[in-house]
Amino acid sequence: MKVIIDKGAGFCWGVVRAVDFAQNELKTSPKVYSLGDIIHNTAEVKRLNALGLETVTVADFPKLEKGSKILIRAHGEPPSTYSEALKYGLEIIDATCPVVTKVQERIRKFHLKGFQILIFGKKDHAEVIGLKGVTNGDAKIIKNLEEALQVTDFSKPTVLFSQTTMDKSDFAVIAAKLREKIQEFVVDTMENQAAEFHAKDTICGQVSGREKKLREFAQTMDVIVFAAGKKSSNGKVLFNICKEENPRTYFIEEKNELQKEWFEGVQSIGITGATSTPHWLMSDIKNEIELNYLQTEVF
Ligand code: SF4
Repeated sequence: MKVIIDKGAGFCWGVVRAVDFAQNELKTSPKVYSLGDIIHNTAEVKRLNALGLETVTVADFPKLEKGSKILIRAHGEPPSTYSEALKYGLEIIDATCPVVTKVQERIRKFHLKGFQILIFGKKDHAEVIGLKGVTNGDAKIIKNLEEALQVTDFSKPTVLFSQTTMDKSDFAVIAAKLREKIQEFVVDTMENQAAEFHAKDTICGQVSGREKKLREFAQTMDVIVFAAGKKSSNGKVLFNICKEENPRTYFIEEKNELQKEWFEGVQSIGITGATSTPHWLMSDIKNEIELNYLQTEVF
């Protein structure tokens, strides 16, 4: 019987960087405030809380002492958050992932040029709120093909971006269908040109590059235990990929959710997770399975 941790699983570098920012600040400040959970993983949030990291929202700003440190996590924030922090005399520790910052800059540029901005993503996701924020709220958020096809006004040139953790093939389908649809809209010019449309695949390489290796890992194991926070969008995408390859894939957030019947008669158990799953959690799960869930053979 083997229990193996997927080598490719664990924090992406953007998240490692944000956690490093928090830990470094906590060496010199007893309290640092994170704007939203620093990571979509309850166990890691609990560990950092114990070091002095407290989760707050923008609505808490007026209650905080002047000079308090506010950490902006890897997902980024809209410009309004920075101005609110300034208004209340708070110090920003900006751990926005550089990949997200780049997407914000590209969206801002197109918006300033007068483009209609479409973002493939989830409207309530922190990263999307930040991306929409750089367009003063003008961007339209579309979560699937159905919503994309409901966009009917192409009087402005249009550009499609993506939240960094969405599925690459879904993005490609949406981009192709929108392109097709937009061909029907002819801009009223002397040349009767088709409306202008660009698709910018801004899905992070850390997420898309992971898919192939994850599929291979899931195929080689009898059972997969997928560990991630229930709020992790990247976690849901990667879990579904695992499940496609291996129907015996189970999602857990913490080790106490493991169930004995998952492991009956299996020879190999793979442990993997999202880009927000810490390595120590996967090691804990491995130890827990080895100690309490494997059948001991009786002779
Ligand atoms: S998944 Fe990519 S974009 Fe998102 S935080 Fe990680 S490195 Fe940055």
